[in-house]
Formats: sequence, C-alpha cells, structure tokens
Amino acid sequence: MMTKLLGAAAACAMIATPALAQEKPGKDWNFGDGVTDERWSLISTEYGMCDAGLMQSPIDLATAKARGNVELDVNFGDAPGTVALGEEKVQVDFAPGYGMNSGGKDFNLIQVHFHTPAEHAIDGERQPLVAHFVHATDEGELGVLGVLYEVGDGNDALDTLVAAVNMGDGTSVTVDTEGMLPDDLDVYRYMGSLTTPPCSEGVNWHVVAEPVEASAEQIAAIRAALGGDTARSIQPTGNRLVVAPE
Ligand SMILES: [Zn+2]
Repeated sequence: MMTKLLGAAAACAMIATPALAQEKPGKDWNFGDGVTDERWSLISTEYGMCDAGLMQSPIDLATAKARGNVELDVNFGDAPGTVALGEEKVQVDFAPGYGMNSGGKDFNLIQVHFHTPAEHAIDGERQPLVAHFVHATDEGELGVLGVLYEVGDGNDALDTLVAAVNMGDGTSVTVDTEGMLPDDLDVYRYMGSLTTPPCSEGVNWHVVAEPVEASAEQIAAIRAALGGDTARSIQPTGNRLVVAPE
C-alpha cells in the first residue's frame, strides 16, 4: 500500500510540472536493456502514453522515407549551467540565452542530458553515447537536438563537463555547447515523444546525422555516472513523416 501511495504522489508532482520534471527524486521507473519493451504504463496510469502512444521515441531513423534539408539554425556558445545528477540521470541545466530555430520557431535551450548507448538507431546500430539538448518555445512546445558520439579523439567540451559531473550534483560549470556539436548540422527530423515517462508526445526531434568523436574514457565516465545502459527500446515509426538529410 505504501508503494502505491508513493507512486501516486510522484504522479501528482509530474502533473504540476510536466515534461521536464520526470526525473525528480521519487523516480519510480527504470530503463531496461534497451531492446525489451519497458511497459512503463504498468507502473502508473500517468504513463499510459508510453505504451498507447503512436508517436513515441526513439525510432530507427533508417525508416525515413523522405529526404530534405531541414532549416535549422543553432545559437550555441559558452553556456553557464548547473550539474543535475540523479538515478540514471546526468544533466546540466542552463541559464537562458542559447537555443535553436527550426522551421521558423525559436526554441530556448533548457538543459542537456545523456544516454548510453544512444537511443535513436540508424539501421539497427546505436552509437555509444548521445547528448539530448532539450529546448522549449515560449509557449512550451518541446524541441530536442540529439548529438551522437562515436569512439575517437577526446572532445574538449566534454572534458569540462565530465570534470564538473565528477564534482557532483549542483556543481556550476560553463559548457562550450558549440564545441559539443559536429561541423555539419544536417539532421533527421520527425515528431515524437519524451523517451522517459510520462512519454509525452509533440516533441520536435532533430538528430544530427554526423557523429562527434569522444574518447572511450569520456564515454565510460558518463556511462558510470548514469549507472549503466540508459536507452529506451526502439518504438514503431508507423505512419510518421521522418525526413532524412539529403
Ligand atoms: Zn534524452
């Protein structure tokens, strides 16, 4: 009975502050092996969309049937932020000032967090790490820029970020967000969802096609802070329009 009451309390907290607050203390769900259906809807009725939704994320981007160059302008730079750690969570919350424009809409950068391995796959393959730069418009519409990392040379911006993560929750850090991006910002674009409960839909997904190099040590450090695998299983693309870069 106590477990059930705690679950209800957590769900209420989520209604009060939707979308971005899903990983607050009291988190009652976990990532699985990244392949098996997580069935998060069985944990709480608030998570029904995770299993009933038809526009869920992540997907295999190789299911894209359209090609086109999405108009995307990214305004990134040295962003002051605060490390926010939790169960299966490595995140930096940013002060306002940076963002992106996609399809004529301005999205403000709110935070960046990580998953190991990457959540979106391309032809069944997942890179070992992804950064999700979470944005919202002034009206609250969510937009995510996903940046994939492959094993190679170390990334200087990640060095600074990993050092701050190792100092613990609440550490202040200025992240060279531009340094975390590849030169070429051609993206896969589609409408999807949060990849964590409550799996809310209406998220404008942009996944950059060109991976960025990160060292095996950097990837291992972030994975250790996350506590292991933190990728949701691949969701059906269904009838959605997925645009791949030309
Ligand atoms: Zn994410």
